[in-house]
Amino acid sequence: MQKTGVEALPIFSITPFTLLDFSDKTACILWFAGCNMRCGYCYNPEIVKGKGKLGLADVLVFLKKREGLLDGVVLSGGECTLHPGIIDFAREIKALGMQIKLDTNGSRPDVLAKMMSQNLLDYVALDFKSLPGSFQKITRSSFFDQFEKSLKLLLAHDIQMEVRTTVHSSQINGDELAEMKNFLAARGYKGHYYLQHFVNQTKTLEDLGPSKKPQLDQSIISSGPQFVWRN
Ligand code: SF4
Repeated sequence: MQKTGVEALPIFSITPFTLLDFSDKTACILWFAGCNMRCGYCYNPEIVKGKGKLGLADVLVFLKKREGLLDGVVLSGGECTLHPGIIDFAREIKALGMQIKLDTNGSRPDVLAKMMSQNLLDYVALDFKSLPGSFQKITRSSFFDQFEKSLKLLLAHDIQMEVRTTVHSSQINGDELAEMKNFLAARGYKGHYYLQHFVNQTKTLEDLGPSKKPQLDQSIISSGPQFVWRN
């Protein structure tokens, strides 16, 4: 199994304020160290491979000072659902009256299910890495079945969510994106399908070379979940 890098000090760093990441809410972002995937295009190699520097108790002190100032907290990383204390921590955040957005690669449906059953999540951004044929190559992991389970769970709970894919042209082309969109439609996903084109000349986990943004056939765009490029 992929080494996750999960440590006793789970938080790598904090972005103290953003208006961009949690719809129009005032929020902070907590970057959890460690991940169970190794996507070559990952922009956060230090977070994925590095050690955390802050404990959850330290972060709660930070959050308590911002009670009434921040609407929400984004739990990101890395993969925050790997951390054993995440559920209790989320409960503490909710007790401060803050909403929670979770960024996840979908590999821990068991954690997602527990968090949703306790009403700890207000919004979930789910990474859709690829269909099964390319999943191992792109993520260096075998969590496709867990991803699919996470997707089904989120849809069954009718939680506010988005599905998103980072696109590097050496890994996914327009036809594959169409298949991925059809996969989402077949499972009942009706929201936007967000695409993030790989930002060239960025430090990443692997050197995948430059990417050329794929063209999408208009007939693909007009049916099922709508593609939305974020860049
Ligand atoms: S892109 Fe996300 S899932 Fe992939 S290695 Fe980076 S943090 Fe982990």
